[in-house]
Formats: sequence, C-alpha cells, structure tokens
Amino acid sequence: MKYFSTRGALSELTFEETVLAGLAPDGGLYIPASVPQLPANWQKVWANKSFPELSIEILSLFISADEISQTDLAALVHATYNDSAWRHPEITPLQPFTNNKYILELFHGPTYAFKDVALQLLGNLFSYFLQRRNRTKSPGEERETLTVVGATSGDTGSAAIYGLRGKPDVSIFILHPKGRVSPVQEAQMTTVTDENVHNIAVKGTFDDCQDIVKALFADTAFNAKHHLGAVNSINWARILAQTVYYFLSYFAIRRTLPTDAELQFIVPTGNFGDILAGYYAKRMGLPMAKLVIATNANDILTRFWKTGRYEKLDSNFSSVAVGGVVETLSPAMDILVSSNFERLLWYLAFEDIQNTNPGGDLREQACQTVKGWMENVKSVGRIVVPDSVLELARRDFTAERVDDKQIRQTIREYYTSAQSYTADPHTAVGLHVAGAISPQPNVIQIILSTAHPAKFSEAVTSALDGVPGFDFDEVLPETFKTLLTMERRVIEVERPDVELVKGVVERFAVP
Ligand SMILES: *Cc1c(COP(=O)(O)O)cnc(C)c1O
Repeated sequence: MKYFSTRGALSELTFEETVLAGLAPDGGLYIPASVPQLPANWQKVWANKSFPELSIEILSLFISADEISQTDLAALVHATYNDSAWRHPEITPLQPFTNNKYILELFHGPTYAFKDVALQLLGNLFSYFLQRRNRTKSPGEERETLTVVGATSGDTGSAAIYGLRGKPDVSIFILHPKGRVSPVQEAQMTTVTDENVHNIAVKGTFDDCQDIVKALFADTAFNAKHHLGAVNSINWARILAQTVYYFLSYFAIRRTLPTDAELQFIVPTGNFGDILAGYYAKRMGLPMAKLVIATNANDILTRFWKTGRYEKLDSNFSSVAVGGVVETLSPAMDILVSSNFERLLWYLAFEDIQNTNPGGDLREQACQTVKGWMENVKSVGRIVVPDSVLELARRDFTAERVDDKQIRQTIREYYTSAQSYTADPHTAVGLHVAGAISPQPNVIQIILSTAHPAKFSEAVTSALDGVPGFDFDEVLPETFKTLLTMERRVIEVERPDVELVKGVVERFAVP
C-alpha cells in the first residue's frame, strides 16, 4: 500500500515514509492510495479476535508485508497492546448502559485518555523503523535519530510522552504553557524522568507554544539537522490504530445480541481523528448507521453539516467568540478548525468528481479541489461546498453541538441514573447527543468515551457538586494521588522565544 498527499497525488510514499513525515511538504495530509476491502469471510474469521489480533488483521491491509513482515507486525502490535500497559484486558471494553446504549471506554491506557490507543503504537512504529535503519550501521557510524517536538494544552502531551519514553534514538520535547495546564496533566508529563523525555514549560500561552513548534518545523536547516518528527493527530498511523475499536465493538455486540440491529457510533470530536477512523472502517465495509459527530461549543463541524459552510466564525452563532477558540468544559475538543477534516474533504471531492465523470486523472483533480478549498480556509477563513458535496457528507454523517450547561446536566444525569456512571466532560458531549437524537427502534448506540473522569476534575466536580453520595476522591485513581508527590523534571523557558527553545533542543537531543 502506498500513500499520497490530499493536495497532490503525483508522488507516492511508503507507509514508513508516511509515518515518519507526518504532514506532507505541500501542507496536505497523507491518505492511502486505495481503501482496502475486507476479506470475504471477515465476519466469521475475525469474530472472536482480541484487540491485538484484530489490530494485526486491519493494519496488514494498510501496510505491505514487504515493508513490515507479518512476524514483525505481530510482535510490534503485541508489544503495544499488552496487559502491563493497559488497565483492562480488552484494551477498549464496551460497557452496556441500557439495552440499546453502550459506552466504548477508550481510556484504559497509561495516561487515561483515548490518545494512548494510537500513540502507544506510533511510538513503537518510530522505534521499529529507526532500529531497522540503524541495525546495519557499524560502531562509530552516525545513527539515524528522530527528534519529536510538539506543543500541548494538556492531553496530547502526556500521551505522546508515554508513547515515546525510553525509546532508543528518539528524543521528545513537549512544550506546555507554564501554569496553564491542569495539575494532573502537568504532573503526568513532568514526572516522566526518562532521559529522552524533555518537558519545556514556556512562560506564555498555548498559542505561543504552537507558534514556536511551527517555527522549528519551518526552519529547514534546524529540521534537517535534528530530523524533526510530529506526533499530532494528522499522523496517518494514529488514524489507522483507531479503526480497530470500531471493529472490536461491532463483534462484541454481535456476540451478545445476535440480531440485525444497526450500530450507531457517536463520537466526541475535535480534530476529527477519532471519527475519521470510524469512516475508514465504514468504507472498508463495517456495517453501521451514519456516524454521529458530537462537538462542543467550538462547532465548526456541526455548522458545516447544517449549512455546507466550513468557516472559522459565524455571526449567527453568537456564542462563538469572534476570531478565537471558546474555552469549554471539554478542552481537548476546543479547536477552531479540525485538522483531519481535510482527509474527509478529499473523499467527498473525489466522489463528487466521479459522479460528474469529467474524464482524466480523477484522483489528481480531487487533490486540486481540496487544495483550492484549503487555500480559501487560510485566506478568507471559509469554504462553501456545492450542494452535491454536502449531500455526500450527509450520507455518512450527522452532527450535533453541545454546550457547557448540557455537559454539566449530562454528567449529573448519568451519575444519578440507576447505573450511576461517572462520565468525563468529553464523553458527556457524546452522551448528550445520543439522548438528543432519539434513535430508531432497531439501532444500538455506541458512545465513544475518550477520557477518564478524574482527568477533568473541575468539570466533574462542578457538575456533581452537592449530589448526595458524590465524593471526587472515589473517582480519583491511586496512581493520580501518588503522581502529585513524585519527582519532576521540567525545563523552564523564560519567554516564548524560538531561539531559547532551539537552545534546549540543541543541548538535549540525542546526537
Ligand atoms: C483528543 C480528544 C478528543 C477529540 O478527538 P479528535 O480525534 O481530535 O476528534 C476528545 N476527547 C478527548 C478526551 C481527547 O483527548
């Protein structure tokens, strides 16, 4: 399987090149040359497979065996999804809530957030590729290394650090705005004292941190010297890793409910990575109803599905602060634009062109359409797609928006229900939408739960304050309590200044 950029299909990359590159040089995102179809007998053969076993089956459809052999892939996947790193034997267990409502818990990894599912695999892929490149080097010969640099407002940083800690030939530098991430998130990052992990606390905002990271990537000399790598959600391997739990939950339902009920996945969405994995599963042939996008007040996607306009701000939606991200109770979904949405746009453009069938290279024409759209997003902050494209988008997805008040209500409603479920504020966005769209009789709803409630104490305690019997301490895992007392390692940077950060990387990156 080869990969090409959504903004120009003329050159193709291997899987290894795709994963190491992250973003394409033309600013596009890599997608597979084709979406593989499932093997003819998949429903039988895959029915009782575990998470790692399914992962091997699915990954090998997207990774040629001459790039990673079946044996190596199996070893890599089993090393990633084993009992010692995950707190649940099923990795992503499906919890029944009612007869037709299930919660797919994705937060049983090392940092208690769904990003672990993909970043644990990505770390092992990086390390596999580097080891292979370095294996044939003689002693004294320069080894290939990778310097991962990223900015975080909380969740991604810790999941990336846990994915890369202790990996040979890889260094990771994560910038966070000093004093502006939650105490638990800060502790999760800075208590990792492996030699190759470097937390940089920048006196500034998250945007300052992000600007510094962008400047480092744009500095070609610096980038060439240090081989910068990215772990943000546009990395193809992250999407691929996440397709697995859609299949796993499909089989879990089939085993317990041998009916022909239809599955409806409801996904709390920010950068569109998690739900995009569901879209790939659907395109591969996994039977499901329309995918449901659940956004918070940063609702660019919901507005797109309602209007066909993808725009950064809209005066009709007065709660959207002009020109900026709204701070909500679900901060991991606070985005202005959704980076992975470009991948969906490519498929929509391609199908639309295919329907009018102009002849010529349809794939390249779709790339040129997407390129034009993305240039518009950049220059005027908006695109308006043709009705035919919106119709295609509506065929596979619907979208709903949830505000903070509804998040609090939902956390309360689920906590005080007979099953007493403590939801985190991101999961609550999905749970609220599940209730709001009142499904048809033969539909089973699966709500993706993206974080452990203890990670977002402020939202959970403010929602459950005064509810009889609620004690936040009971939600808090033991490991979180000890985290706060552990030794920390962090490098402070006095000003949001690219040169200062460069100095830190120069000093600490593995040579
Ligand atoms: C990242 C994240 C999301 C959003 O996922 P996307 O793939 O960016 O749509 C939702 N919830 C939590 C807790 C997250 O960390």
